[in-house]
Amino acid sequence: MPTLALIATGGTIAGSGPQHHYTAGVLDASVLLAAVPELAALAAWQVEQPFSIDSRDMQPAHWLDLAARIRQLQVDPSVDGIVITHGTDTLEETAFALHLLVETTKPVVLTAAMRPASARSADGPLNLLHAACTALDPLAALHGVLVTADASVIHAADLLKAHTHKTDALRCIEGRGLAGQIMADTVRWQTAAPQRLGLPELLALSAGVQLPRVDVLSAHAGASADLIDFCVTAGARGLVLALTGHGSIPADWRTALDRARSAGVQVVRASRISAGGVWPGCNEDDEACGCIAAGPHTPQQARVLLMLALAALPDITRSRLAGLFSPD
Ligand code: ASP
Repeated sequence: MPTLALIATGGTIAGSGPQHHYTAGVLDASVLLAAVPELAALAAWQVEQPFSIDSRDMQPAHWLDLAARIRQLQVDPSVDGIVITHGTDTLEETAFALHLLVETTKPVVLTAAMRPASARSADGPLNLLHAACTALDPLAALHGVLVTADASVIHAADLLKAHTHKTDALRCIEGRGLAGQIMADTVRWQTAAPQRLGLPELLALSAGVQLPRVDVLSAHAGASADLIDFCVTAGARGLVLALTGHGSIPADWRTALDRARSAGVQVVRASRISAGGVWPGCNEDDEACGCIAAGPHTPQQARVLLMLALAALPDITRSRLAGLFSPD
């Protein structure tokens, strides 16, 4: 029988209480496993619960801890695959961080739930079963870090939480294809894995490394530029701008952004619009304004990439960063 490692980190999948007033992350991992009797027939389970939190409280240090543990399990010959339970709120950040931080020589599958375990029609048990089926699929490791929810399998780099309460909240960023769908506990693979950066310096980032502060600032009518100065004074090494449209910088922000760049802060132009991305030279002259276009990344993904890149390569130039965000 294969062995799967279960790393439980909390979230609604381990939540209990009334549907819209429950507490996330209160149930032990063994309770999640016991809720799905088929799981014991599929695999032997090696269970660990390094922390149990509502994922709104997830910290960048947790990404590094999880990546370090996954790397250990990847070389442990007694483990065949890794399943991680997590809250949905920041799952796209953790999934993207793990996509950048680990190579999958064995399957790595994250899963979550929108309804607490105590709810009528809780979605966690089936999502967990589907995560196990995916982690046992011989093709899963070729797809990099994966996420299963609502019978869909999604590449970690393509994940977006796109609904506040429905059980199909975890979806692909528009324009990306599902990695696969699960039917009768079997993955029907559909789309090849997205290109990985595979930067050795990122793969070497270890637990405990201090990640630099990177803030996300959202543009809107009348958005005030003094927040830019505040972030720089507070120690930000990077700013991700969730701008309007195709990454247009408000006229009022330009002087403060010039000050930020003079202070050595890297500035990424992303969009508050969830589809289409922000591409170099579109709507702004990135060379002239000293910005980096986010490429296909959402603001939250751009922040993860910028934090990890600045930690792994502290002297990285703006042009090399631009190449990481919009690879050819
Ligand atoms: N607040 C919860 C969490 O992210 C939401 C969920 O898991 O669906 O932990």
